[in-house]
Amino acid sequence: MPIYRIGHGYDVHRLKGGRPLIIGGMRIPYSSGLDGHSDADVLTHAVMDALLGAAGLGDIGRHFPDTDASYAGCDSIGLARRVHRKICRLGYKIGNIDATVIAQRPRLAPYIDDMRRSLASAFGADPAAVSVKATTEEGLGFTGSGEAIAAHAVVLLKKNTRKPACRLPRKTTSIKKRRQCGSLR
Ligand SMILES: [Zn+2]
Repeated sequence: MPIYRIGHGYDVHRLKGGRPLIIGGMRIPYSSGLDGHSDADVLTHAVMDALLGAAGLGDIGRHFPDTDASYAGCDSIGLARRVHRKICRLGYKIGNIDATVIAQRPRLAPYIDDMRRSLASAFGADPAAVSVKATTEEGLGFTGSGEAIAAHAVVLLKKNTRKPACRLPRKTTSIKKRRQCGSLR
């Protein structure tokens, strides 16, 4: 009988001129980007928090503290791979991920499938098991004013006590080309 665990993650980052806009590992052309210590990938952060929460491992601030200079400007998809390794070591496999990005602008629909593939690759999941949705808050609040972009994620983890844990993905060339952050642990 498999063991199931559910996790929820939420994140928000302020939009700021002169920053690249990275959401779900995809660079999206826009006049401003998300501000933060790392690349401020709000969607990847929400999914990472959901996974860590489901596994009872705390949150991303505990694993990748923003007081650590080695994470400055770093690629969150690389951190996501490390979160995946942590949950794999505990014997968990991703059942499915469902995430929502809340942004008044820019329009994210053209990038949704690439975000799903990017997250699926980072978390060793089938793209069919990764859902990304985009919505607006109808001009209301800080996302509506274009001040920030937020993301919510829920994830289901499965642990099958009879079968071996999920396979760890090999490092891909894309991660080698990207900036590696922090000390590996
Ligand atoms: Zn974040």
